[in-house]
Amino acid sequence: MLRDTLTRRFALSFMAHPDDAEILCGGTLIRLASMVWQVHIVTTARGDCWSATLGPDEIAAIRLEEGRKAAQSIGARYHCLNIDDVCVTFCEQTSRLAIDLFRRIAPTLVFTHPRFHYMMDHEQTHLLARAATFSYPIPNASTIPLVEGTQVPWLYNVDPLEGLATVAAATTNDLPRSTYTVARPRTPPMCEPLTVLQGTGYLRPDGSKGVRNLVLVVYTVQCASHVAHAIADGESDTHVVGFPGCFDNQYAIRLLLALARHPNVGACLCVGLGCEYTQPKRLAETIAKSGRPAE
Ligand SMILES: [Zn+2]
Repeated sequence: MLRDTLTRRFALSFMAHPDDAEILCGGTLIRLASMVWQVHIVTTARGDCWSATLGPDEIAAIRLEEGRKAAQSIGARYHCLNIDDVCVTFCEQTSRLAIDLFRRIAPTLVFTHPRFHYMMDHEQTHLLARAATFSYPIPNASTIPLVEGTQVPWLYNVDPLEGLATVAAATTNDLPRSTYTVARPRTPPMCEPLTVLQGTGYLRPDGSKGVRNLVLVVYTVQCASHVAHAIADGESDTHVVGFPGCFDNQYAIRLLLALARHPNVGACLCVGLGCEYTQPKRLAETIAKSGRPAE
């Protein structure tokens, strides 16, 4: 349907933090960029909180630069509303910022967080995205001139990690299977918390609570990916993730650790050759500190 009716192909990922787009809908954005969509990645927050060693401005500068480079790598543009982490709030001031940015980009396809999520910045960002999606084409909603082709865009809630999304919208062959992006059209918001409340929960040793009990097979170099997929093949609730390069990539390690220690993951098996920078044994030891069986 999109292919037949759209004349303007501008996709906008509107999420809270630098790295949210890469983790939550990176596959879809890569796919869209390869289909000659113009992709814009927006974060409402500047990533100033999440460092144990660096001050807010220092870490924010690093996170913003990472966001810019990640966008650049697929020919996308990165924008930030520069709100402090954990302080994203849906209010008149931030709503005007979001609407003005939408007005400049004039997206026809928007990705954002689900209405109900574990992180309040995500929920507030969802409200900003929803408000701007509906209102940015309204003539007097902003003083920024309307771009030709402006229309109310399709809005997707994206949540491949929490399992609230159900429909695979796009995938890419360039990423490990479980980092494929899952998105779905907007659904009645009240369905989401009810689904979670009625499901089975898993209390992890670190205090987090998952709604799934997945086994993660992690490969630490491309040469081990075939073995990892062979191990997981045919196994239910078993996902494969990994980093293909032999070289030092701290972002990849952080991402693998974040996925491995996600509340929905119950155990991990790390597979590698031993000649790569990311040592599977060390990775497993770090994961095991969260209380999960890992080897
Ligand atoms: Zn986030």
